[in-house]
Amino acid sequence: MHDALVIGGGVAGLQAAVFTAKAGLDTLVLSGGEPLVCSTDKIQNLVTHERLAGEDLVETGRERVREFGGEIEEKTVTSITREGSPGPLRATTESDTTHTGEAVVVATASGLDFLDPLDDELEFTDGREGQFTMEQHVETDEANRATENVYIAGLANTWEYQTAVAIGDGAKAGVNLVSDRRDEAHVDHDW
Ligand SMILES: Cc1cc2nc3c(=O)[nH]c(=O)nc-3n(C[C@H](O)[C@H](O)[C@H](O)COP(=O)(O)OP(=O)(O)OC[C@H]3O[C@@H](n4cnc5c(N)ncnc54)[C@H](O)[C@@H]3O)c2cc1C
Repeated sequence: MHDALVIGGGVAGLQAAVFTAKAGLDTLVLSGGEPLVCSTDKIQNLVTHERLAGEDLVETGRERVREFGGEIEEKTVTSITREGSPGPLRATTESDTTHTGEAVVVATASGLDFLDPLDDELEFTDGREGQFTMEQHVETDEANRATENVYIAGLANTWEYQTAVAIGDGAKAGVNLVSDRRDEAHVDHDW
């Protein structure tokens, strides 16, 4: 049983996992397929860099997750079910492995069919029309919560397409997951 299962290892999922792992939560990232940001080698809108390649961003993110004790497995999730009511969540993968988490962050951008078993609990909205936009997003509250112990981050949550937005949204999901679990505002100061 993991404290936090993160489905999707793009920038949003990795940022969420950095926060949960750094807070000491047992964190597993399941990610199958290449993150969208790897399609570009010249992101120029981040305050931290003049110019950055998406692949470098993902590689650094993966290193950060592991530095804080998180694990990353290359696996595509085919379904998420809930055990009990309310209870932990079980992710089944293409290779038929199962992974259980007290809480889940969904950060897969598109391909949200694996959430079908939670249909009764989730609401979806249509995406905006435009280049590169997603077909659907999962509705959340202001703290990225979609239902009990399920958080949504990045393009799975919002039509705003920029890398910085996805990173910020992942951060918000991770911080709120930790805060909810501890029932106090999570502070992450390195002093
Ligand atoms: C060509 C291109 C150029 C871009 N250029 C810029 C730019 O210059 N500046 C900028 O700010 N933004 C740019 N972006 C946008 C940026 O890439 C996205 O905003 C950002 O990557 C979204 O991050 P995400 O984590 O939400 O999704 P993603 O990066 O797509 O991450 C989701 C991950 O989850 C995986 N996944 C999906 N389904 C499953 C499943 N069922 N189980 C497990 N894993 C799954 C996916 O394969 C992927 O690895 C560009 C995007 C593209 C495509």
